Amino acid sequence: MKFGGTSIADGKKIRHVASLLNDYKKEGHEVVAVTSALGGVTDGLLENAMEASRKGKVPQIKEFMANLAKKHYDAVEEAIDDSTAADEAIEQIDARIDELEKALIGICYLGELTPRSIDYISSYGERLAAPIISGAIRSLGTKSKAFTGGEAGIVTNSNYGKASPLEKTYENVAKTLGEIIEDHIPVVTGFIAESEEGIITTLGRSGSDYTASIIGAAVKADEIWLWKEVHGVMTSDPRIVPDARPIMQISYIEAMELSYFGAKVLHPRTIVPAIKHGIPVRVKNTFEPDFGGTLIVADQTRSEDVVKAVTLIRNVAAINISGAGMVGAIGTAARVFSALADAGVNIIMISQSSSEANMSFVVDDAHLDIAVKALQPELEKNSIADVVCDSNICVVAVVGAGMDGIPGVAGRVFGVLGREKINVIMISQGSSQHNISFVVSSDQAEDAVRVLNREFELGAPREE
Ligand code: ADP
Ligand code: ASP
Ligand code: MG
Repeated sequence: MKFGGTSIADGKKIRHVASLLNDYKKEGHEVVAVTSALGGVTDGLLENAMEASRKGKVPQIKEFMANLAKKHYDAVEEAIDDSTAADEAIEQIDARIDELEKALIGICYLGELTPRSIDYISSYGERLAAPIISGAIRSLGTKSKAFTGGEAGIVTNSNYGKASPLEKTYENVAKTLGEIIEDHIPVVTGFIAESEEGIITTLGRSGSDYTASIIGAAVKADEIWLWKEVHGVMTSDPRIVPDARPIMQISYIEAMELSYFGAKVLHPRTIVPAIKHGIPVRVKNTFEPDFGGTLIVADQTRSEDVVKAVTLIRNVAAINISGAGMVGAIGTAARVFSALADAGVNIIMISQSSSEANMSFVVDDAHLDIAVKALQPELEKNSIADVVCDSNICVVAVVGAGMDGIPGVAGRVFGVLGREKINVIMISQGSSQHNISFVVSSDQAEDAVRVLNREFELGAPREE
């Protein structure tokens, strides 16, 4: 069971989470808890690390650290009644706060922040949280022990900021947690792990979902539960479409497409270990635990809903390359995409017209400059004549396994957008036919999501 930052935002919520975990344990289940950082802490750590490297103001760091310590002390006081458990948590917090302050002050003096130090600094959110959750469980009379991802056995490559677990992780975790799972609730920090050299790595923002599925797969869990502050995976981001409704059941593939295409509710790699080991994933609301939430499973029962959800990716840019030299020239696409891959550019979407005279693709906004630079050699060789970029765009994706082989879905999507005067800049449909994605200008993107929700009746209240 993984608890997100909002679910453990303060001591009162942590107390609630501890009692939820305790109830499942008392019912006879073996449970592993995976914890995020307290809400907002990871953002705060990253901001202050940046500030420290840019401005080097030690007093500012001291003030941040005092507030951070207070936030966690307050949580201990509110969440843990037993004084021994509270003292143990405080002792852990003090040790972590001390290390973190030294590291941030070091960055102030050095003025540099490497990907490795970013991972180290951002790991502290989870490392401060786990002892509190574990203490709150012990305070309820159930044995519990806190682990970092590395201590639990998660070993990754050294791709800081987006590390991937090595295969031996699964055996390590099964052994470490297997030894105590019967009578303890182990609490493992989400998001963070260790390289083979023992250096802290992270799995990418929102990575605690991924930790939960890695651990679930390792201990051969019956189910992997992700507890959040929403009712499950919804038909759209509830912040854009207020009447979006929770989806009761979706397939692994649909969930992957949804998270890949911007539904912030799941870390995109979460589903991978679950698929490999055939473990159902459930997304549930921490504050309404009786509600079933969303069940993510292998089987793709074709539902009556052709379209399950509509998502939006912001902070992306479109690049259009063109030139008469591209027509019939074998290998241009291969060279272009290898050059981009070598530069570390993440390509979100591709579209090529059959005339072959131009090709468009969408990349992360943050990668735009390096992408353009990577295309330079092709320009010099004249294999492409022109590169045009637009960063004022968003990708909208319409997802649902039910549209596979159903004629007319694309017609409905683009028909309604046309009627609503929403201009479509680029279109792509994979041959899996599980999604149709398209590009619109940023100022029309939210409207596009709302219009499609209405068209496919994704917002109307529904019997559960
Ligand atoms: P966690 O508490 O696990 O970190 P997140 O904040 O990562 O949870 O994910 C939940 C948030 O994702 C919700 O607050 C919601 O605003 C956003 N979200 C975006 N798209 C969707 C969607 N399709 N379904 C549910 N939530 C979504
Ligand atoms: N705390 C990390 C983040 O904010 C990981 C997570 O919450 O899943 O990205
Ligand atoms: Mg998250």
